[in-house]
Amino acid sequence: MLDLHGKNALVTGIANNRSIAWGIAQQLHAAGANLGVTYLPDERGRMEDKVKSLVEPLTPSLFLPCNVQDASQVEATFAAIKEQWGKLDILIHCLAFASKEDLSGDFSNTKVENFNLALDISAHSLISFSGAAKPLMTEGGSIVTLTYLGGARVIPNYNVMGVAKAALEMNVRYLAAELGSQNVRVNAISAGPIRTLASSAVGGILDMIHHVEEIAPLRRTVTQTEVGNAAAFLCSDLASGITGQVLYVDSGYSIMGM
Ligand code: NAD
Repeated sequence: MLDLHGKNALVTGIANNRSIAWGIAQQLHAAGANLGVTYLPDERGRMEDKVKSLVEPLTPSLFLPCNVQDASQVEATFAAIKEQWGKLDILIHCLAFASKEDLSGDFSNTKVENFNLALDISAHSLISFSGAAKPLMTEGGSIVTLTYLGGARVIPNYNVMGVAKAALEMNVRYLAAELGSQNVRVNAISAGPIRTLASSAVGGILDMIHHVEEIAPLRRTVTQTEVGNAAAFLCSDLASGITGQVLYVDSGYSIMGM
């Protein structure tokens, strides 16, 4: 049975009720996990207010600001986990960013600053989170990140984010190899295209979704709940033998050649 009672789970990347992280948080909560939630702080505190009221029904026992570009906020997040929970069992890394100008047009125009920004936020953050989580996963654990097919194949307009996802997927393998001896598993879910704040920045996202609806074996794209269910599975003992993998939750789209 999928049971996460007694597990402490940190969920990052909730921006609104369309966020994949929101779908994951709901399924972890339904399976009995004790939740901690981080949000990306802004100057006016709007994100804090929005995310706080959204997650209230899930009664998170930690609610913290965490911009992955700010090392002190990452440190404070894991210090709070250590102080209030003592141990961490589950870490959901569900965030990414690239400048909108780099998510359409010619890939060869990508500037080094924008390349570094996309790789820093979208890929390196998994390394910094995992390094901070490592000493707290004293009873083993599960780390899950979100990737997309554009990290393995060329998808129009995905551009620098595809390179960031390729790095992220390789991070998963290196981290799985390092953390396996302490029974910490690291996996990625490669989700099919879903309309969210982040995906709306990718040029032609609606065309991508319509294409999946025509081609994918299931003739539709996936929902946040379906991704959440797969994440809950990967975080549970049912997946105790799975690490270093990319699990496609994409209605089967990635198997098609034409
Ligand atoms: P979203 O906009 O709801 O979530 C992206 C999150 O990233 C937001 O909560 C945002 O606050 C956070 N974020 C951005 N910069 C950050 C920073 N510096 N520090 C901390 N957090 C930051 O969109 P989403 O589609 O739910 O994206 C979640 C993850 O799923 C991303 O990794 C995305 O690439 C991946 N993904 C999305 C799709 C899709 O079609 N929507 C498909 C496959 C994978």
